Amino acid sequence: MTINYNKLQVDIHLDNLRHNYRVFTKLCDSVIPVIKSDAYGHGLAEACRALDGEGVGTFGVGFVNEAVLLRQSGCDTRILALLGPVDDADIAALWEHDILAAISHMDQLEKVAKAASANGPLNIALKFDTGMRRLGFSPDAADTVIDFLKANPNLTPVMVSSHLASADEPDHAANVAGQFVRFNGVVEQFRDAGFDVEANLANSAGSLGHEICRLDSLRLGISMYGGNPFHGTEWAELGSKLKPAMEVSAPVLQVHPLKKGEGISYGWTHVAERDSVVAIVGAGYADCYSRSLSNTGQMNINGHRVPILGRVCMQMTAVDVTDIMGEGLDDLAGVRPGDMAWLLGGPGPGTITPEDLAGWWNTITYEVFCLLGMNQRSYK
Ligand SMILES: *Cc1c(COP(=O)(O)O)cnc(C)c1O
Repeated sequence: MTINYNKLQVDIHLDNLRHNYRVFTKLCDSVIPVIKSDAYGHGLAEACRALDGEGVGTFGVGFVNEAVLLRQSGCDTRILALLGPVDDADIAALWEHDILAAISHMDQLEKVAKAASANGPLNIALKFDTGMRRLGFSPDAADTVIDFLKANPNLTPVMVSSHLASADEPDHAANVAGQFVRFNGVVEQFRDAGFDVEANLANSAGSLGHEICRLDSLRLGISMYGGNPFHGTEWAELGSKLKPAMEVSAPVLQVHPLKKGEGISYGWTHVAERDSVVAIVGAGYADCYSRSLSNTGQMNINGHRVPILGRVCMQMTAVDVTDIMGEGLDDLAGVRPGDMAWLLGGPGPGTITPEDLAGWWNTITYEVFCLLGMNQRSYK
């Protein structure tokens, strides 16, 4: 659902998406773009179409219903539903829409096998839990799963997958190595049993930082959208070639002086320490621009950083433009109603990176993209 009552504008730079994808095809022949959750707010069908000409063999989404949406948008590439089938409609959709689903526990596998006896053969992916403790079979269950599949030849395992819990933390390299070893053991068991499976382990951070985890294919989410999973760590350089695909802007509604000693916005949580000029920007928490940015975040106007003053409101946020007004307080020519304020990206040295915004917001770039991406988007 797109937020359609506001003036916030999300620009998606599809060239940057393609650029980021190509950074990874240099590391591994097979890259699976993860375009779940509406492509992290970048648009499911649009992200798919932008990358389709790049030779993508598989797209990854979340639930099976999202896989169906992607299929219905015209995508005829293999689609992997990472979260697997949840209900009977999802199970039926695997055949109806030719979806490869990750199966992660016995109950699910039995239901799919039962459906296969009526619907015919199906390729499946198997998810093993090597340490994330979220979804997946225990590696100890690999023998049981293999026996079950031998008894149910309608189901063909084409992929064995697992998810790394802390690949983005250089200090946790030993945990990643442990997950790799457990995963590799499972893959070998499947291959020894005669199943020709694709070994698929690494997310963005695993792909960039842990060469042994690259294996047959990569699952790439955040880095494809230009977020650096190693931002703020000693491995930050590994993500330095990535270019953010999303920019977000909103119009300045009004510009006026704020005298020394005057408070601004609800609760007057900011009181001017000097005679100032403020710009009121038409963006707030109803546009998924978090209230936690109050008195903390910054915007970019005309290439300069301007700090948020007081509380972020439902559809408005005040910023301090005193230092970019040029001629002094009486001259409001520097910033005018209708000018664009950039919440993410924007021109010049004041450009706001996804990591900047996520830091002020006290979250991660993933959440920033998913939330701001619910606004009206245009594609460049
Ligand atoms: C979301 C997701 C990914 C992508 O992770 P990034 O850190 O965004 O690269 C990969 N695998 C699974 C199972 C996921 O759920």
